[in-house]
Amino acid sequence: MTRKLYYEDLYAREFDAEILSCSEHDGRFHVVLNQTLFYPSGGGQPCDLGTIDGIDVLEVFEKGGEIVHVLASAPKIEHVLGVIDWSRRFELMQQHLGEHLFAGSLWNLSQIHTARMRIEGENVSIDTDTPADMSAILEAERAANEAVWADIPVEVIYPSIDEVKANARKLPPEDAELPIRIVKVEGVDYVPCCGVHVSSTGQVGLVKVTSVENHKGGSRIYLRCGRAAYMWVDSVHREVRKAEAELVCGYDGINDKIASLKNQIHSLKAENEATLERFLRPLAEDLVKGAENFGERRIVKYIAPSAGQEEVKHLFRLLTERREVVALLAGGNSEGAFLMFGTHKENKGVDVRPAFRRAMELLGGKGGGSPFCAQGWSTNAEGAEDALNTAISELKNSMK
Ligand SMILES: [Zn+2]
Repeated sequence: MTRKLYYEDLYAREFDAEILSCSEHDGRFHVVLNQTLFYPSGGGQPCDLGTIDGIDVLEVFEKGGEIVHVLASAPKIEHVLGVIDWSRRFELMQQHLGEHLFAGSLWNLSQIHTARMRIEGENVSIDTDTPADMSAILEAERAANEAVWADIPVEVIYPSIDEVKANARKLPPEDAELPIRIVKVEGVDYVPCCGVHVSSTGQVGLVKVTSVENHKGGSRIYLRCGRAAYMWVDSVHREVRKAEAELVCGYDGINDKIASLKNQIHSLKAENEATLERFLRPLAEDLVKGAENFGERRIVKYIAPSAGQEEVKHLFRLLTERREVVALLAGGNSEGAFLMFGTHKENKGVDVRPAFRRAMELLGGKGGGSPFCAQGWSTNAEGAEDALNTAISELKNSMK
């Protein structure tokens, strides 16, 4: 059994140890020491990293009471110095205790049970076994932060199994080794846990819920705690400052500004529609009058090199309101051409797709659609006239 120094002194960063065994596994070396400060992966907490004899520790896991350190190369001496990556460890301890404060509060205030927790990078996620609504989550967040401000000491105790059953928000597994290790924060949490945590709640600094999603009949709640919470707040604040500068307002005015911009866009769109209608309706009449007759159909070909997509689409709508019309339209700008081919929805005998594909082949563009409406874009604006003429021949063939 490896002596678990990480339970004896949470704040030690270096230790001496004897190598008990070292074996090679797929080019990596599994080193077992007589004692270690390296916390192995377990209970949702990632392992510590650092160095042993100056060699990087890649992974640490526990197997049958032994703590296995995975190293890139084998240590050359038997008496080694281990150094843990302290900033990583401290953050993990902040995250883990922050999770206890939140999960404990969620249980105390709303009887919502945490089935699983995981620390991954800067995120702590917890899965509840019943859905947690936003008000319960925010209440728990508030209570967790109040526990931080109260700077309560974290106790590790080994009570009787009856006491554990009477007090814990979560029961240990049936086959758990006795005595059960309980992590207790007076008035906030009492739970079986094998992890390492900062020694008082004040060191967590901040607990912030960042997002919530539905998960297997419960909720998955993402938290940031400690340094990770500060980093998150800082990055949100940077984005907010950019928005403030862009919108020329304070953070509390951002939503009003967005609402007013949305209103402006809405009325500009309506105005644009009305303008398009006013000048496109007479154009549509003229185009239909001057269109080529093909049996019962009238084929309208129209190229407007400076017309935007909205304009082409509006004209298309006006033309294809008439059952006899098949329209082949091209608009665009110096960067390319926008093509729109189609006919009335109930014009069953017409399929514009072969003609449209032919035009797109010629222009080297992309697009597609249904038998009565196909649209696409090509960067070849000059070729539009020829492409439309070829497409008309193709269309006539398909309508014979
Ligand atoms: Zn824990």
